[in-house]
Amino acid sequence: MKAISVLGSTGSIGTQTLEIVEDFPDRFKVVALTAGRNIELLIQQIQRHAPEVVALADAELVASLKARLNALEPSKRPAKLPEILGGPDGICVVAAWPSADLVVTGIVGCAGLLPTLAAVRAGKDLALANKETLIAAGPVVLPELAKSGSRLLPADSEHSAIFQCLQGTPWADTARLSTGIPTPGLRRIQLTASGGAFRDWDAADLVKATVADATSHPNWSMGKKITVDSASLMNKGLEVIEAHYLFGLDYDHIEIVIHPQSIIHSMVELADSSVLAQLGWPDMKLPILYCMSWPERLETPWRRLDLTEVGQLSFRKPDPSKYPCMQLAYAAGRSGGTMPAVMNAANEQAVALFLEEQVHFLDIPRLIERVCDRHRVDLTSNPSLDDVLAIDTWARQAVQEAAARTVGSPV
Ligand code: NDP
Repeated sequence: MKAISVLGSTGSIGTQTLEIVEDFPDRFKVVALTAGRNIELLIQQIQRHAPEVVALADAELVASLKARLNALEPSKRPAKLPEILGGPDGICVVAAWPSADLVVTGIVGCAGLLPTLAAVRAGKDLALANKETLIAAGPVVLPELAKSGSRLLPADSEHSAIFQCLQGTPWADTARLSTGIPTPGLRRIQLTASGGAFRDWDAADLVKATVADATSHPNWSMGKKITVDSASLMNKGLEVIEAHYLFGLDYDHIEIVIHPQSIIHSMVELADSSVLAQLGWPDMKLPILYCMSWPERLETPWRRLDLTEVGQLSFRKPDPSKYPCMQLAYAAGRSGGTMPAVMNAANEQAVALFLEEQVHFLDIPRLIERVCDRHRVDLTSNPSLDDVLAIDTWARQAVQEAAARTVGSPV
């Protein structure tokens, strides 16, 4: 029985992880949960899974959660109520909870960084969904992984696909994952992208893009931030940097290809020109389950892939003029050091402003570019954790200021 902690249990990744636990009660049990503010759902999760500990990011809600749990009828309460913690420190305590074997990181954004590091330092294996942690702090996280021996298993569908393909190469070795040392024989990675909400829009029509448009993904059901990132292709840009840290390839050998059907989840090209791909319906439960069961494969009752039903698989190169965020991510990755952290924080802040309808969709890349340009002279090539945290705060403020100065006119 594998003991699982779920960070961000009330989100899209978190709820799907808990569904898997329910599908495999003989294989997995939940020992710890964390949420941001969604007490209603957290209470239901506590009732179903009886974790040992929970934490809420918003510490002010802890008293209310305790009162609500104590007020439950005895028949609706778990035999033992969990320990309840609050605030970012409480989340880090949960991330390092001793009885957990695997920590699923489903917190959105850079808020996942400190909990992920806490789990790594406690020697836990991780199912990494929270890619922003690796993008912002790859140079900090990688040495910590080497020190603690934690394994970072990719839950992102594209990186899971690459990881699965590499199991089929003679050099497959998880010890290599996230060491920065490329797998011998791995020549190129092709990350597939659905193209997001604006896949079939002309670039000229993006001036009319609304929040409702950007948050309707054609293939995947996900949280709002990542859905907007998919529409701008920033999500794929973040994944390029994530792939660089996980699999050790340089940026010239990590490519993006638009694949509207989202059936091939990514491909690897090997030295002899052979290409391996992993296929499946677009459903995050499969890559999450693979992290949870690895190296085993569990029998599932899930819908089997039928390529005759799909009919056609098509591919095209992404248009850089339509997706400037993709270019910004490659540039930040190549600059290295603190630049990916700045780009990631600027993107998070710009997307938050877009979701609040304070800036336009097209302002997102403009704001990111402006803030990355400002940072160029201060770039630190080998940052510490404190450097990353400080630069993250600076970049968010810089985006706020740039957006405030330009209200009513394009940034
Ligand atoms: P959601 O927005 O659906 O969920 C986010 C979770 O994080 C919620 O549980 C939320 O709590 C919690 N949270 C929000 N803010 C904080 C905070 N400051 N501190 C602690 N917890 C917080 O996001 P997703 O599940 O879509 O994405 C999670 C991560 O997984 C992201 O990094 C994303 O890029 C990645 N990912 C997601 C995929 C998907 O299919 N959804 C696919 C691949 C990667 P609450 O709701 O209670 O406030």
